[in-house]
Amino acid sequence: MTLKIAIQKSGRLYDDSVKMLKECGIDIPTGINKLRCDAYNFPLEILFLRDDDIPQYVEDGIADIGIVGENVVFEKNRNVDVIEQLDFAKCRLSIAVPRNDTYESISCLHNKKIATSYPTLLREFLDRNNVDAEIHEISGSVEIAPSIGLADAICDLVSSGSTLLMNGLKETEIIFRSEAVLIGTQNTTSDKQAILTKLLFRIRAVKKSKRYKYILLNAPNDKIDTICNLIPGMKSPTILPLAKEGWCSLHSVVAEDDFWNIIENLSAAGAEGILVSAIEKMIL
Ligand code: ATP
Ligand code: ZN
Repeated sequence: MTLKIAIQKSGRLYDDSVKMLKECGIDIPTGINKLRCDAYNFPLEILFLRDDDIPQYVEDGIADIGIVGENVVFEKNRNVDVIEQLDFAKCRLSIAVPRNDTYESISCLHNKKIATSYPTLLREFLDRNNVDAEIHEISGSVEIAPSIGLADAICDLVSSGSTLLMNGLKETEIIFRSEAVLIGTQNTTSDKQAILTKLLFRIRAVKKSKRYKYILLNAPNDKIDTICNLIPGMKSPTILPLAKEGWCSLHSVVAEDDFWNIIENLSAAGAEGILVSAIEKMIL
């Protein structure tokens, strides 16, 4: 029994999808231009497809699960469930207009022509905001539409915004925030569900490890209580005596988010020899 996962054949999701599987300890043959392959050491079959087709393949049961952007999940509106957020391919679907256009509010889009590859998400946004605009669906190179006279505005995926800038556009509305997600259906057999549970256990351990750092520090015994209070989370830090009289070493885990603040506070509270390292897997 194997679980079938559909991932993007090539494009922005491919590298991170394969990397995530690798970090989960799943080895797949690479460098071979195939449409499908089997993992060497995990009951997983990988299907390489266009990302736009993945929701349908999962709905139809050709693949059991798939990795796609949430933007595609919502745009395609298939009967699939989001099983897990994957913390990569973060981007936003935004409306942009030529840089020199005046734009004060959404009502500036009234009676305008907007080019996009995401007509469903755009239509939903326009309706929600009572904007009457024409949607012109195109499948690629959306950002050049205004400069060639095809549309007045665009609605496209943005991450840094550099593509918009290069095409003389400015971002005016964010309509949807997206990241890669694992999708599936309710129809999984119990054998497959067991494999999926194993896979999810690994994915969550990998995701968690990326959000935390492992920290080691030395401190005089009389400062340890203050220092412990500065480290949130985790049940309790490990404290070991040092060979040096009156000193101990403390090991703990710190969230990446407020990492620098915590380090500054620890140092100010008397911590010395602070070492920080990445965590490869984290199981709580
Ligand atoms: P395909 O040929 O498979 O249809 P595509 O051209 O539709 O590929 P890509 O550009 O490879 O798609 O993007 C795939 C997904 O990656 C998008 O649906 C989105 O979720 C995410 N993505 C797109 N642009 C960005 C970006 N600039 N930064 C981060 N993630 C992005
Ligand atoms: Zn696509």
